[in-house]
Amino acid sequence: MTDGPDATLDPDDWTDIRALGHRMLDDMFDYLEGIRERPVWQEMPAEAKETLRAPLPRHPGSLADAYRSLQDNVIPYTVGNPHPGFMGWVHGAGTPVGMLAEMIAGGLNANVGGRNQAPVEVERQVSTWMAALFGFPESARGVFVTGTSIANFMGVVVARTSALGRDVRAQGLAAHADLRAYASTEAHGCIAKAMDMAGFGTDALRTVRIDAAGRMDLHDLAAQVDADRRNGLRPFLVVASCGTVNTGAIDPLAGLADFAHERAMWLHVDGAYAALGMLAPDVAPLLAGIERADSIAFDFHKWGQVPYDAGYFMARDGDRMLDTFAAPAAYLQRAGRGLAAGTAWPCDVGPDLSRGFRALKTWLTFQVYGADAIGRSISATCAMARHLAQRVAAEPELELVAPVTLNIVCFRYVCADAERVNREIVLALYDEGRVAPSATTIHGHYAVRAAIVNHRTGPADVDALVDAVLRAGRRLSQPATP
Ligand SMILES: *Cc1c(COP(=O)(O)O)cnc(C)c1O
Repeated sequence: MTDGPDATLDPDDWTDIRALGHRMLDDMFDYLEGIRERPVWQEMPAEAKETLRAPLPRHPGSLADAYRSLQDNVIPYTVGNPHPGFMGWVHGAGTPVGMLAEMIAGGLNANVGGRNQAPVEVERQVSTWMAALFGFPESARGVFVTGTSIANFMGVVVARTSALGRDVRAQGLAAHADLRAYASTEAHGCIAKAMDMAGFGTDALRTVRIDAAGRMDLHDLAAQVDADRRNGLRPFLVVASCGTVNTGAIDPLAGLADFAHERAMWLHVDGAYAALGMLAPDVAPLLAGIERADSIAFDFHKWGQVPYDAGYFMARDGDRMLDTFAAPAAYLQRAGRGLAAGTAWPCDVGPDLSRGFRALKTWLTFQVYGADAIGRSISATCAMARHLAQRVAAEPELELVAPVTLNIVCFRYVCADAERVNREIVLALYDEGRVAPSATTIHGHYAVRAAIVNHRTGPADVDALVDAVLRAGRRLSQPATP
């Protein structure tokens, strides 16, 4: 780096950074190749936290030193989702190809808000692929965002504009306190948050009962919508869960599509992790009806194994996205040729202006592995869940607490004081570091929850979970020795 008028942040001589960069790349391959030898998670020691709390560095430091600090203080202490023993929450594992795509995207540093450039075309190609995958018409359009939380927020806002017209963008919701949306009691918390952020308030979201399998009860939905109508309110949106985060239940999508059509309501599908089940021949039939949704939110970073973050919003009529997000004066005046050419840029169909080349890691994942291989890994996670469910069923000390639809298994250790014991089992497993489930509450009972999303998770990992729960359960359910 040079001081003075020629100063840039580039090195004068690229030799050292190149050599160190090659080592970092090798280290990250070693990291992924050896992932099984590490604990899935370990507590970050106080010294590591202390090191990171240093004040803002004002002067140059060496990259080699900073890298050493990363290796000591950061790299060993991440949440652990690439590890095959990670079964907590619904987190994807990532791939080495995805990692390389991130490096290339970082080097290019393209701002993919729009303009006449190949990254916009790459993103458009993913949109075309997804429209075909979900059976959407050519009018459909998709756009990358951080995650399904934001994609669901977009769903609420697009449904709003669709119900009220573009004027709502200027006038706001003050005159529309009568709008109501509907989602099941099992809907992800980000749906209520989206209603809050969109200015409706969470009270405008009705919660609909579920059946024994965790799916939205259509009768209860109809009863609530019709009662609201009779009371002069205006039902405008149904949010279906396609793979609930708790148990993987899929709301009756075809029935919901009929219902929404009859009532002229917008059907948005929160398919955060399970919508990509369309890639798996044994899962796709369970999603029948999704092709009739008005919009879908999902993540490539969960079942798609694309590195974080790679959320996606798609509407069957892309013009609704333009109606909601484009500043017409800007996008109608685009140049006919040159760098500023093209209409309907990504910034016209979503909330972001500046945005990275998120599409690359998804595009490269499909190029290299092929969509069928992603589909096979999705099927494999469901097979692992069935294996886990069978092992749980075969152990008298364990019981399943929810039906297994896809890849999520909720179970518990049966004993006196089961709430406390199961809570401590999960904590004990985190300390051991071989497997990491999460926990949830089903029908008021605390349960161990294994969400198998990771393409690396195999039978040995599932067996390790069962064995570890049994071991911890036996130990923790013993009466304390005086
Ligand atoms: C993960 C998840 C979300 C949130 O998605 P993010 O990508 O974490 O923002 C929403 N709904 C469901 C069903 C999920 O599984």
